[in-house]
Amino acid sequence: MTEIPKDHPRYESLLAREKVAAGVKIGITSIQGLIAQGRGESFDYLIGERSTESALYAERAAVAAFLLAKNPVISVNGNVAALTPDKVVALADITGARLEVNLFHRTETRVHLIIEQLKANGASEVLGKNPDASLELSHSRRLVESKGIYTADVVLVPLEDGDRCEKLVEMGKTVITIDLNPLSRTSRTATISIVDNLTRALENMVKFAGEMKHESKDELVKLITTYDNKKVLSDAISEIQEHLKAITAEMEY
Ligand code: ATP
Repeated sequence: MTEIPKDHPRYESLLAREKVAAGVKIGITSIQGLIAQGRGESFDYLIGERSTESALYAERAAVAAFLLAKNPVISVNGNVAALTPDKVVALADITGARLEVNLFHRTETRVHLIIEQLKANGASEVLGKNPDASLELSHSRRLVESKGIYTADVVLVPLEDGDRCEKLVEMGKTVITIDLNPLSRTSRTATISIVDNLTRALENMVKFAGEMKHESKDELVKLITTYDNKKVLSDAISEIQEHLKAITAEMEY
């Protein structure tokens, strides 16, 4: 991995790019994962590389859903494993969620390497190696485990494709996504759409889970029942517009 100087103004972003590239080199991330990362970076620029108010609100709602869930599951793909293996493991630990590897470009080697990567970061059990259930999809993301994603009541699917997100929602699950693109099919289909960078979102969610696990069940239920995802998405788009206006004013175009 190329050393990125810590005082570089876009250190976090460049470090993430190096991590995904390293993921491709060691075989945990697909080459297509680089394109997804690039698309994410461009939306992050428009957002201002910060967690917006609407994102923080969605992250709190997502944590409430996790803390109330019977069988919460976090789906892990090659980009997530390359970028934030420590943080997905931390979120699973603090919320009692299971981890399951689920890949669009699935190979058994890649599944194995991702499981090893998560275990090296402290995970005790990682599902995904022995799928025994199937979603109604024609690609590899249909392959799931019956004690994991198939029966999950709440499922976090970061950096998802719209197809599977739609299918999981149709199955009656609470589907939480993390996707910097508020216009993607995934963001528009999910129950709770977190429009934030994966790294920032997971960091915030681990912190919120530490605070919110002491809250009463009633408080958590209230957060979920008053949550409005349409408003979150429309606020996310407005926040991008506001950010662009502020930048334009600063530059006196
Ligand atoms: P859809 O089918 O939902 O319309 P898509 O075809 O763009 O979306 P993918 O190719 O799976 O689906 O894209 C992954 C999504 O993840 C993209 O919208 C991209 O902006 C987003 N993304 C990529 N990297 C990150 C990241 N680090 N944090 C958050 N989101 C990211």
